[in-house]
Amino acid sequence: MTSLAAELGRIVGDAHVIARATQLLVYRSDALPGLQRAPALAVFPGTRDELVAVVRALAAAGAPFVARGAGTGLSGGALAEGITLLGLHRLKRILALDPIGRTATVEPGVVNATLTRAAAPHGLHYAPDPSSQTACTIGGNIAENAGGPHCLKYGVTLDHAVRATVVLPGGEVVTLDRGDADRGDGSGGGYDLLGAFIGSEGCFGVVVDVTVRLTPDPERVITLLADFMRVRDAADATSRIIAAGVLPAALELMDQPTIEAVESSVYAAGYPRDAAAVLLIEVDGAAAGLEDDAREVERLCRAAGARGVRVAHDASERARLWQGRKKAFGAMGRVAPHLVVQDAVVPRSQLAELLDDIAAIGAQHGVRICNVFHAGDGNLHPNIPYDAHDAGESARVHAAMTEIMTRCIEAGGTITGEHGVGLDKLPYMEQLFTPDTLDAMCSLRAVFDPDRRANPGKVVPVRACREWHAAVAARPATHDGGGA
Ligand SMILES: Cc1cc2nc3c(=O)[nH]c(=O)nc-3n(C[C@H](O)[C@H](O)[C@H](O)COP(=O)(O)OP(=O)(O)OC[C@H]3O[C@@H](n4cnc5c(N)ncnc54)[C@H](O)[C@@H]3O)c2cc1C
Repeated sequence: MTSLAAELGRIVGDAHVIARATQLLVYRSDALPGLQRAPALAVFPGTRDELVAVVRALAAAGAPFVARGAGTGLSGGALAEGITLLGLHRLKRILALDPIGRTATVEPGVVNATLTRAAAPHGLHYAPDPSSQTACTIGGNIAENAGGPHCLKYGVTLDHAVRATVVLPGGEVVTLDRGDADRGDGSGGGYDLLGAFIGSEGCFGVVVDVTVRLTPDPERVITLLADFMRVRDAADATSRIIAAGVLPAALELMDQPTIEAVESSVYAAGYPRDAAAVLLIEVDGAAAGLEDDAREVERLCRAAGARGVRVAHDASERARLWQGRKKAFGAMGRVAPHLVVQDAVVPRSQLAELLDDIAAIGAQHGVRICNVFHAGDGNLHPNIPYDAHDAGESARVHAAMTEIMTRCIEAGGTITGEHGVGLDKLPYMEQLFTPDTLDAMCSLRAVFDPDRRANPGKVVPVRACREWHAAVAARPATHDGGGA
């Protein structure tokens, strides 16, 4: 055992430190199995004090580290190549739940859906609902500014976080909130440091606890499934619904290859297998007038060419329709051993054209693309199931993905809506941002983590950091990877 492992073992107990390569295998990847990097060590604190002490010990040793929640990330963000992985799943206590003030304070390892379950008896829920919500953690959600199907109406993680306690990589414990804002919850004052921290992908420090807002359950929910014989008609329906001023709680698109994967799996939801695409649309809110909204959505879908529109009759049919959507990535696990997922956001008005382009790119490279995404947000998720052990197929898949991303950038879009840059999207950062903008990102990071020890090698290409570049270039390659 190294001296660092021994020191960490003294803090958390030897049973919660892993140094053996075979035991570390499980932490080689996140939910993007094509990217694999082995950590040197893993440590799992069980209390807040242990977490702070671990980060301080890492700081004293000058050791780089990567925080990890549930490892459901889809950009390789939680990979710790040759360095210490700081696992947070044992910190899973709900510290306070205030149904009157409608807030909850939780440790970082609390699973997203667990918080909603705890709030349910009070008629409340935690609104950001990533499709991975039965596994992903609130700490990981903060780090990625996670979204989800219902974020179209309710907003993403940033809109629901009130305050966080964070241990900075140097060991200082700080409280971050949303700056000068009067939200009636006592938060605010000074800069919006929480806003800066949310979405920082583990590069600014480690969440120790976080206070989030809870949202009242809607009085009524109506869920519709519209099916189309052309994908572009489903995209057109999406634009028509938003343009008409109806704001659904969720508006999700699944194309035929996705429908096929779901219907062939244990998550079969009863989607029509012969449809080119389906839209899963939900309207919610006050019961009065909600049926008018649902009728308007149905009319707009039919005007765009929907073959049929079905309404879920009860809670179990609604749950089944949602299960198919939320487990779609999992269903693709039956199709091939590996999966690459992209997360581009494009102007909604260009969805139809871009979906045509994506299909053409797939055909040109001979790869099967499954689209399942947050259509209402213009947040595309082209998925390609493939076998990473087949070098030829891997090369074709990555060439197709690069073309898709470039096409989305050219269309005025961006490279991530919710999955983060991580390791996977690092190569696109210089395509998307100017050198000055990237340098500003590096400077912001330096405020939180001047030594770049928290999640090194991610998000911003290190060569973009002017001041840091000289120092990095001068020393032997260790943990710097390709990013800052
Ligand atoms: C089937 C499936 C569906 C998904 N659907 C969605 C979706 O609808 N919307 C969406 O936004 N995402 C989605 N994701 C992606 C993923 O679930 C989210 O990014 C989630 O927020 C990651 O949480 P995690 O706990 O698994 O974090 P991890 O994967 O463990 O880590 C992700 C990043 O967060 C950092 N991190 C983790 N914990 C902390 C902490 N306590 N402090 C500081 N940094 C930390 C890590 O260093 C890493 O950079 C999906 C993933 C899967 C597999």
